[in-house]
Amino acid sequence: MKDGYSRKINYMRISITDLCNLRCQYCMPEKGIHKKDHREMLSFEEITEIVKSAARLGIDKIRLTGGEPLVKKDIVKLIEKIASIEGIKDVALTTNGLLLKDMAKDLHQAGLKRVNISIDSLKPDRYEEITRGGKLNQVLDGIQEALHLKMAPVKLNVVVIGGVNEDEVEDFAKLTVNDNIDVRFIELMPVGEASGWAKERFISNEEVKRRIGGLIPLINDTSGPARLYQLPGAKGRIGFINPISEHFCGACNRIRLTSDGKLKPCLHSNHEIDLLKVLKEDPRHVDEVLQRAILSKPEKHYLYTTEHEIGHRNMSEIGG
Ligand code: SAM
Ligand code: SF4
Repeated sequence: MKDGYSRKINYMRISITDLCNLRCQYCMPEKGIHKKDHREMLSFEEITEIVKSAARLGIDKIRLTGGEPLVKKDIVKLIEKIASIEGIKDVALTTNGLLLKDMAKDLHQAGLKRVNISIDSLKPDRYEEITRGGKLNQVLDGIQEALHLKMAPVKLNVVVIGGVNEDEVEDFAKLTVNDNIDVRFIELMPVGEASGWAKERFISNEEVKRRIGGLIPLINDTSGPARLYQLPGAKGRIGFINPISEHFCGACNRIRLTSDGKLKPCLHSNHEIDLLKVLKEDPRHVDEVLQRAILSKPEKHYLYTTEHEIGHRNMSEIGG
């Protein structure tokens, strides 16, 4: 369906857990987060009901995220369920990749066609520092397994942080040359753990593009926020996701569902609708509430403007 600004909304991102096996500095507090009572969180049955309702309104693409979605027991069954819902054409996943190697085959068989893997450094020590403990080789093994299963293109999400990993952008770009890998550089956002320091560490994607050099612009895929380029002769592509330096809100096609069942029409607004409550009280109203939420999507975000509302959630709860 269309929102109040005539944007077609066909994509829902669902955070299936706010827990994670990493503590990335810009996303999670070092000590982790307080574990909520499971009654406050969406169950897989509730997620399935919400997706059925969303599919009736024209949502055909679902992305599961978190926290870390692969720490969630039975995620394979959830993917199987969602992939079989009438109207759902595409089920994708965003993961830190740590557990992917052993799970990829089952996930793929369950209906997961594509995977986005977050990886901010190719240097083991640095990776461990950014993620507060992650083992890079596990992620690299996960990427290889996804390539092996032809979950192509395997998309790698890289958040560039000034003074931390900015010297690796060329190395990341080179990963696209021989493999069907898309590398997507994401601008650091002043959200959650990064709210206080994102501005000082911010590197624009214009700068990243300049450092890589020699990029050939591709016709942009209008269904997503990434601006796409390619290195000459490369198999994969390089995307730039510029939430800060460029408003892509005009092409926004998505809504988000947090792990505690709140609908967020916009990532950067505190406006939320308690869909879990609606579902528990009277499931017949879910379609209507979802419809109203889509219509309440704001025209654009207000990051770094005077109208910016400081968010009360970390990205691990919202899902990125
Ligand atoms: N755990 C999974 C992962 O890391 O891919 C899924 C959830 S994570 C919240 C989703 C994405 O949000 C990751 O690519 C992460 O790098 C990104 N992210 C988290 N906080 C961010 C921030 N402050 N600015 C930009 N991206 C952020
Ligand atoms: Fe976990 Fe992903 Fe957040 Fe890192 S970015 S702490 S992997 S949820």
